[in-house]
Amino acid sequence: MAIGARPHIAVIGAGPAGLMAAEVLAQGGAAVSVYDRMPAPGRKFLLAGRGGLNLTHSEDFDALILRYGAAAPRLRRAIEAFSPNALRAWCEGLGQTTFVGTSGRVFPHCFKASPLLRAWLNRLGSMDVALHPRHHWSGWDDNGSLVFIGPEGRIRLTPDAVVLALGGASWPRLGSDGGWTGPVAKVGIAVAPLRPGNCGFIVGWSEFFKSRFEGQPLKGIELSFGGQTVRGDAIITRTGIEGGAVYALSAPLREVIEADGEARLHIALRPDLSESDLARRIEARDRKQSLSTFLRKAMKLAPAAIALLQEAAHASPELLSSMTSARLAQFIKAAPIRLVGVAPIERAISTAGGIHFDELDANFMLARRPGVFAAGEMLDFDAPTGGYLLQASFATGAAAGRGALEWLGLRAEDAPPAR
Ligand SMILES: Cc1cc2nc3c(=O)[nH]c(=O)nc-3n(C[C@H](O)[C@H](O)[C@H](O)COP(=O)(O)OP(=O)(O)OC[C@H]3O[C@@H](n4cnc5c(N)ncnc54)[C@H](O)[C@@H]3O)c2cc1C
Repeated sequence: MAIGARPHIAVIGAGPAGLMAAEVLAQGGAAVSVYDRMPAPGRKFLLAGRGGLNLTHSEDFDALILRYGAAAPRLRRAIEAFSPNALRAWCEGLGQTTFVGTSGRVFPHCFKASPLLRAWLNRLGSMDVALHPRHHWSGWDDNGSLVFIGPEGRIRLTPDAVVLALGGASWPRLGSDGGWTGPVAKVGIAVAPLRPGNCGFIVGWSEFFKSRFEGQPLKGIELSFGGQTVRGDAIITRTGIEGGAVYALSAPLREVIEADGEARLHIALRPDLSESDLARRIEARDRKQSLSTFLRKAMKLAPAAIALLQEAAHASPELLSSMTSARLAQFIKAAPIRLVGVAPIERAISTAGGIHFDELDANFMLARRPGVFAAGEMLDFDAPTGGYLLQASFATGAAAGRGALEWLGLRAEDAPPAR
């Protein structure tokens, strides 16, 4: 279904991956229509902007690519072609300068997604990319046409090529609900189950602890699990624990919980002090002072951290006040917290699982559906927070766009993103 002399390409999903594919395709000379089930594009991208919009990471390419674990070899070519530097240049082309934070993470100076998205949509509009909000893709009919449910009812389309960029399944109210797995699996495409990635965990907190400390941060802590150690912050939730440091360990934690039903996470509340130093200070404390006052004033532990120690001690079961100095130091250095479940995918930052890479050729085309490409978080990769998720979504979107141009015999080398 060419439009004029130009081939027509349908991009389904108006997140970072789909919009990037649309830009590459329009730049390469295709007529592009973008469909999304939501009333407005880029809802999850806007939410990511509420956390500062960590666009990518500045570390060495070899270190960066390893963050994608088993998917690294499948993503390497796309990320080489649309590297963190190319992503920064692209952002700056849209009027949003970027900077490298102290952790090596890259952010736009404005710390928001909305100005970038606005400028991007304007650019896409000027390239005649047609946006069709409120169009829910429900799969293919028996003739291989795309089926959408839109404001005017059911429509069928047979474009010259298709890019699927339907996202994962976290924060479903923003549009990506993983509903695409049904139609995709129905045509025989293998999909690894969608699971929470960069997610929180369930802890059996006492009533007192959860009612008193829900929403409180644990700052500057160090988490240890399975030989890995991560410094950062966490947040106590009503049902457990979440936040940056927890997300960084979420993949191994999730695997152990899936296998064994539980995992034991250790939290260092004063990671800057050695266990012997802690023990010495505890031993030398003024015994007239209550333990909690000592922990608060001399150990500089926040009330939430002290209560967390008490929770860990109760579960042991022990009493903090009866512990020897050495035992208490051990607890402050590594309070054991029993995680008994993975928090629901609805609250996760990302989604693990998705379309198996074995279903895709090197240009992100589905072997079972020639002319249909897939990109972004709907692919079977996960990565820690740090900008890796957006980096892979943008890069695979661009790669799928280039792949579709090539498949249609258009000149992919004319395409951005190196504008
Ligand atoms: C709270 C939060 C903070 C985050 N912060 C960061 C960050 O700082 N850095 C980072 O790298 N990553 C971050 N992420 C992750 C990042 O936002 C995602 O990885 C990224 O948006 C994925 O892009 P995508 O285009 O593949 O999918 P999405 O952005 O999810 O877009 C998919 C689109 O497809 C549409 N869609 C789904 N199903 C259908 C259907 N059946 N029919 C039509 N349309 C459909 C959806 O409405 C959606 O618009 C964050 C995520 C969350 C939840």
